[in-house]
Amino acid sequence: MRAAVFTDYGEPLEIREVEDPEPEPHGAVVAVEACGVCRSDWHAWQGDWDWRGLDPVPGHILGHEPAGRVVAVGEEVESVSEGDHVTVPFNLGDGQCRLCQTGHSNICENRQALGLQPEAPGAFAEQLPVPHADHNLVHLPEGVSSVEMAGLGCRFMTAFHGLAHRADLGAGDWVAIHGCGGVGLSAIHVAAALGANPIGVDLTDEKLELAEELGAEATVNASDVDDPAEVVLDLTDGGAHVSMDALGIETTCRNAVRSLGKTGQHVQVGLTTEEAGGNLSLPTDEMVTSEIDFLGALGMPPERYDEIFRMVATGKLDPAAVVSETIALEDVSDKLDAMTDYGTVGIPVVDEF
Ligand SMILES: [Zn+2]
Ligand SMILES: [Zn+2]
Repeated sequence: MRAAVFTDYGEPLEIREVEDPEPEPHGAVVAVEACGVCRSDWHAWQGDWDWRGLDPVPGHILGHEPAGRVVAVGEEVESVSEGDHVTVPFNLGDGQCRLCQTGHSNICENRQALGLQPEAPGAFAEQLPVPHADHNLVHLPEGVSSVEMAGLGCRFMTAFHGLAHRADLGAGDWVAIHGCGGVGLSAIHVAAALGANPIGVDLTDEKLELAEELGAEATVNASDVDDPAEVVLDLTDGGAHVSMDALGIETTCRNAVRSLGKTGQHVQVGLTTEEAGGNLSLPTDEMVTSEIDFLGALGMPPERYDEIFRMVATGKLDPAAVVSETIALEDVSDKLDAMTDYGTVGIPVVDEF
């Protein structure tokens, strides 16, 4: 099969023939029809996350936002058949451990990060092997196309799980979203669909315009103001109910926490870069005295994907709105390159393999 193969940090992916994957007894193989290109791919491609074990080796295939058709199933698989239209969560679970059994399969004890670690080759390829297929393959409902599913990607799942499951977001609540890349824009769209009042904070006017189209009540260009957190405090008359750092750098994380009113909830979805190595400093005294919650959110358990699918089916969420363009496998490297300077707006989706 054809694949875009990782060669070295920051180097163009090499388009070449590799061996077709075979399903494990509990696994399946999916013919990929679409796959989103995401900042997480960029982080792995840069070697940012080697300290977390998410370190591509030469020969690795990136890509963690696939949708497609099942073309082969292992003998132990019961709930999927050849021809099924499916997606795969980027948090691969085993479906068997204590966490999988209690609704937290997104943080499975034996979690593998699809396309981001060497043991779990990804979907910038014609075919994708999927382990524990009964658990990790999610059937797409009628009316959700492969490109739309790739638009949902990891970003809507993470944004939805963070706002709807982890935070206690209510209708009319102010939500300050710091960082309007893919996950931030998705969070704005999800927050608006849930009846909350999102505020988008970013450095790029173009991204803030898209944030407004997706439902932001207000936007703040952080490069135009002294302190974006102060602006959010003013806009919300005392502070947001929920904040999100969708980027994972100290400035956005601290600004997000400082945007909150008392008893506010901060949702951290951005993972840090090589420079921070997983540690950011926080205004902890203020968090204590204002009783601020700090919540981590990682993807979403696939058994809850139906919640999002119902909102897509009823038109409350439009994942295609964050898809900026569809591209060919050959174009992935250019898109990753453009992310280095935050030069992409919205999500490119590969649909030509
Ligand atoms: Zn598990
Ligand atoms: Zn992603």
